Amino acid sequence: MRFCRFGDGRLGLVEDSMVRDVTAALDVLPAYRYPLPPYDVFIANLDRVAERARAITAGSPQLPVSGVKFLSPVANPSKVIGAPVNYQKHLDEVRGDAQLHHGSQTHTVPIHQMGLFLKASSSLVGPGEGIVLRKLDRRNDHEVELAVVIGKRVNNVSAGEAMKYVAGYAIGLDITVRGPEERSLRKSPDSYAVLGPWLVTADEIPNPGDLNLKITVNGEERQNSNTKYMILGVPQLIEFASAFYTLNPGDVILTGTPEGVSPIQPGDTVVATIEKIGSMEVKVRTA
Ligand code: MN
Repeated sequence: MRFCRFGDGRLGLVEDSMVRDVTAALDVLPAYRYPLPPYDVFIANLDRVAERARAITAGSPQLPVSGVKFLSPVANPSKVIGAPVNYQKHLDEVRGDAQLHHGSQTHTVPIHQMGLFLKASSSLVGPGEGIVLRKLDRRNDHEVELAVVIGKRVNNVSAGEAMKYVAGYAIGLDITVRGPEERSLRKSPDSYAVLGPWLVTADEIPNPGDLNLKITVNGEERQNSNTKYMILGVPQLIEFASAFYTLNPGDVILTGTPEGVSPIQPGDTVVATIEKIGSMEVKVRTA
């Protein structure tokens, strides 16, 4: 199934080129009271919501995908995890370009040694909201990445067991201000994490380790690779992350970007595509 969030916070079920408005399926969610649970309650109850959505979809209003403003399919992840340099050719291009590594040794070692990083949850938007660039005197780059959404709370899981905890997949953009500061700062301005256009449930993508992914800027291809070139695959990334912190329903793992990162400017239109998920168009602007 393909779930989207759209408009002013509605829930949609995507079927071919149409979106069915199944917002009423969210009525199955428990009535939470403060303190709210520290995870995304839609993803935590995905099976129940999906069952209800299936039951009401036939009679629900439908809209063409082309007319929908897509929000992030996950509204409230407790964290957005990033995998730095998880493709060998991207590591090679970072090592070879001072504009990318800024003299930092930690930008040029493999992911096993560098570890993971966090992007602020407040950086998350959907494709329909666009990217609002800051620091226009600096280079701002696109990074297209397969995004994994965690479905169930998990801690210290082995790679062999990890896939049981995946809710699904989406296209992720890890937008980055280049420069010498910590990644968590440079990658966390509002709108610098784009997730969309919808969540494809894990049953539709049994092997996330062989998906073509690409991105164009104003129609010009910039990145085009396949997730089979990831250094750590999805199960290994979940093992790595959960060895350090509990993963909660709705947590997002951006699995790293292939070679071809390049600058974006206000006025640009970015189109990111991942096999078996779809495409999303994102406008770049300034505040
Ligand atoms: Mn990245």
